[in-house]
Amino acid sequence: MLFGRDPRKKALLELAMKQVEKVLKEMVDDGKNLEKLKFKKYQKTHYTNCICTKCLKAKRNKNPHQRGLLEDGYKVYVDVEDEEQGG
Ligand SMILES: [Zn+2]
Repeated sequence: MLFGRDPRKKALLELAMKQVEKVLKEMVDDGKNLEKLKFKKYQKTHYTNCICTKCLKAKRNKNPHQRGLLEDGYKVYVDVEDEEQGG
């Protein structure tokens, strides 16, 4: 299940989704066409020469997914086509 069994996690997710909803509404108000909406998950990890405990462990386990994270999130964007209608 998406929410798991932890009620705090559920509350946090609901709060986060409200914020996402707000952003999406702002995009609609800006005249964006949400039919072209795309979500993309991304992670930015520490540099390859980083020696923090997480990165050292990742190196030992040869698993780059265990590296320390600088950013962890997602991008929301509208896939814009070049053909514009009207002015
Ligand atoms: Zn690191």
